[in-house]
This record gives sequence, structure tokens and C-alpha cells, in this order.
Amino acid sequence: MTNSDEARVVDSVPTGLFIGGEWRPAAAGATLAVDDPATGKTLCEVADASPADGMDALAAASAAQQQFAAMAPRERGEILRRAYELMMARIDDLALLMTLEMGKPIAESKGEITYAAEFFRWFAEEAVRIDGGYAVAPNGASRFLVQKQPVGVSLLITPWNFPAAMGTRKIGPAVAAGCAMVLKPAAQTPLSMHALAAILAEAGLPPGVLNLVTTSDAGGVMEPLIRDGRARKLSFTGSTAVGKLLLEQASEKVLRTSMELGGNAPFLVFEDADLDKAVDGAMLAKMRNMGEACTAANRFLVHRSLSSAFAERIAERMGALKVGRGTEEGVQVGPLVDAKGRDKVNDLVRDALDRGARVHVGADPVDGPGYFYPPTVLSEVPLAARLSAEEIFGPVAAITEFDDEDEAVAAANNTEFGLVSYLFTENITRALRVSERLESGMVGLNTGLVSNPAAPFGGIKQSGLGREGGSVGIEEFLETKYVAIGFGG
Ligand code: NAP
Repeated sequence: MTNSDEARVVDSVPTGLFIGGEWRPAAAGATLAVDDPATGKTLCEVADASPADGMDALAAASAAQQQFAAMAPRERGEILRRAYELMMARIDDLALLMTLEMGKPIAESKGEITYAAEFFRWFAEEAVRIDGGYAVAPNGASRFLVQKQPVGVSLLITPWNFPAAMGTRKIGPAVAAGCAMVLKPAAQTPLSMHALAAILAEAGLPPGVLNLVTTSDAGGVMEPLIRDGRARKLSFTGSTAVGKLLLEQASEKVLRTSMELGGNAPFLVFEDADLDKAVDGAMLAKMRNMGEACTAANRFLVHRSLSSAFAERIAERMGALKVGRGTEEGVQVGPLVDAKGRDKVNDLVRDALDRGARVHVGADPVDGPGYFYPPTVLSEVPLAARLSAEEIFGPVAAITEFDDEDEAVAAANNTEFGLVSYLFTENITRALRVSERLESGMVGLNTGLVSNPAAPFGGIKQSGLGREGGSVGIEEFLETKYVAIGFGG
């Protein structure tokens, strides 16, 4: 990848706000800087929306809603299908852009672009499968007609860790269902979403259906929109703390809400696990996105009989990973998103070490520029350590030993989060029994990857409400209307 490739892809991205089908500067002319986390240097400036710009975006979405809801489902699906094809045709540039603004290695960015585009392909197919029902009332005196209608204008808020996929996972079903949108991407990684908004326009999405407001004042811009009453839906992906605040705001006008929040995934390795599979699964569940994933394995709970072999094998694999700027050939681990994220990871590791954890590899902070942290493996981590309770969001595997199944399940469930759990065993009865007992919306059984556009992604407990993807994903953007039909005498 050359510097001229980098400059070309950054220069190709529209940097304005996208409102009513037009790219325009923020009303006050403000801009915000987008930085490369591998160097700390600014890549470019994008428009920084004010609350007034946010209101313009909501007005544009409201104006577009009725007509878009009336568009034929096949046409809505074909817009998504074209957007999928455009994304795949431009995967190299989109991946480079993502690596520049977010840090993940190019191969992972390509993986995310494919994953993100697949949501468009999946929901292109779902747009024409919105069904209803007709039934005879139990007493025979009337009929029930049940139909699905778009929920209406939707507010979408996305995080920085998957800058494209967290957006397409919401835009795909919203377009398929017939909902106009205002989307606010994360201030740290807006460029991928700016590029996608341009692709959707090129694919034929009518003006005003998707409006994009990038801002350094997330609360100031979004709260008035949430409280306004014209939007009927709020779909958020991000931290549990912000999700709770948004739920309070959404209660004022009783918005439909979808909340994809934080996680604290346990990764259980039983004594009857296939160690090769468990190590491969662990690498995927831990190191995808440098550990900056809501689905990242946060607590490795390993049966005492396997724990030293497991720790040694993961330490060998983690220690061999090449760390560096994600644009460089062969790099497998990029920087963390910012200094705050890196320092938090380091604080959690120091806390575990202070409490007696043992280091197998890593744990020494790397000096800048850029926000790098070395792949780290710790064992004998006491359950009282902070990283057992908090999202690490970095390349740190923390191993705690257990002696029996009840102890393992109790430790796995001992968290307010419930997004995903991983479970490795070759015993089918145990696999099914433990899968049922784990308190999470998703379980990875002998696999370290659960994300799939065709499957229902989401959490329970404080990891969220609702599901994205799968055949239920579109339901989040549909209302059910029931028409009672009198049959007279
Ligand atoms: P975050 O701080 O909660 O931010 C997420 C989004 O919310 C960003 O766009 C942010 O804008 C915006 N935001 C922050 N405060 C807001 C407010 N008062 N009103 C409206 N919007 C507000 O989370 P993050 O650090 O970006 O992302 C990491 C978190 O996301 C982790 O907890 C991770 O587990 C979770 N996550 C969950 C899933 C899932 O599917 N369950 C997927 C990915 C990530 P700014 O960028 O301007 O701060």
C-alpha cells in the first residue's frame, strides 16, 4: 500500500453532512479531525454537525418517509443488492479507508467489508418476504387480518469498532422495511460510513432516506431528535452506559428501541475439549479486531487439567503475531483506537498482575507513536481482578482455572452482561446442557465466531434488547397492525 493509495482513498470520501440527498458543510462551518490510530496523525477533517443540522436531518427523513414506505419491496431490495455489489467491487479501497481510520489490519478490514456488505445482500432478500396473516376468530364471527408496516423514521447510532458493519446491520433492515433514517456514526471513524452513504445514493436510495450526521457533540445532536416525536425508532450499538441513557431519553416518546450493548464473554474449555479446536477458537474469539469487539472472549475459564497446555499454546500463537500499522504487509495486530483505550487495557493488566496473575507473553506497554498494545496472555487470574468484570477491549487473554462444571457455569454467568458465551467440549450431552445454562443471547459451541448476517445477533441482561440479522432482524423495523373484520350477521 503506497502513500498515494492512502491519499487517494481519503480524498475520495465526501466529508460533508449528507442531508436530503445532498452533501453539505455543517451550518456553522465546523469540522472535526479524523486521526490514524497507528500514527496519531490527522487523516482529514469532516463536517461537525450542530443540533440544528441534526434537526435538518430529521426533517429530511420525515419528509422522505411516506414515499419510501410506499416504494415496492422489490425496488427497495434491489437498491440494497446494488449497494452490496458496489461494496464488493470496491472492497480494496473501502478496506484501506477503514484501516486508516480505525487501525485494524487490511485483511480484517476486508473481512469486515464483506460482512457489512452481506447485510445488504441478506436484507435485499428479506425485503420481499415481509408477510402477514389471515385467520378465523375462534368464535367464527370475525376474521383477523395481520399486516406489517414500517415503523417509521429511525435514528441509528453506531460505534467505532466495526465502522461499516454496525451501520449496514441497521441500514439493511431499515431500507428493506421501508424506514427513512438519520445515522450518527462514531466521531472517531466516520469515513467508512460516509463512503457507504455515497454508495447507497449511487445504488439508487432516494434523497432523504438516509441522512448522515457526523458530530463531536453526540448527546447535544441526538437527544433533541430522540425527544422530538417524529422519529419512531432508536437503534443503538455501543456501550451499556450510553445505551441506558438513551433508553431513558427514548422513554419520553415511547420509541421502539434496539440496543446492542457491551459484553463480557466467557470462553469455557472443558476437560473433554479438543485442545486444537479450543486454541483456534480462542485466537478467533480473542484476536478478531485486536480484541476490540463486543463478542471478544473476555474471560477464559479452563479446566485445571488443560490450563497450562492451553496457556502455553495460546501464548505461543499470540507471541508470534506481527504487530504494526495495519496497512503494512503481514501485520496481524494493529493499534488500539486511542490512548484512552490502550491505557485502560494496560491498567486492567497491571491490576491483574498486582493480584497475583502470571504473565506468559506480552504485558509490556509499547511506546508511541500510535496506540499499540502487545498480545498478552495471563493465567491464574483471580476472579476478583477488574478484567473479569470489565470489557478489556484489547489483545489480552486472561485465563482462570476451574475444577467442575457447576463452578464453570456459575463463573461464566457471574456478570451483568449476556451477549455471547463460548463453549468447547466434545461431549454432546454436556454441550447441550451447558449451552442451555449459559445466560447469553448467543453461544459459540466449538467455534470462536458467532457473527453471521443470516443469524439473529444480540444479547440478554445488560447486553441489550432486540436482535440484528437473521429473519428476525427486519422485525425490529416493522410494526404489526391487526385489522378485525366483522362478518356481520
Ligand atoms: P459508546 O461510547 O457507547 O459510543 C457508541 C456511539 O454512541 C458513538 O457513535 C458515540 O458517539 C455515541 N454516543 C456517545 N454518547 C452519546 C450520547 N450521550 N447520546 C447519543 N450518542 C452517544 O461506545 P464505543 O466506545 O464507541 O463502542 C464500544 C462499545 O460498543 C463496547 O461496549 C462494545 O461492547 C459495544 N459494542 C456492542 C456491539 C453489539 O452488537 N452488542 C457491537 C459493537 C460494539 P461518539 O463517537 O461521538 O462518542
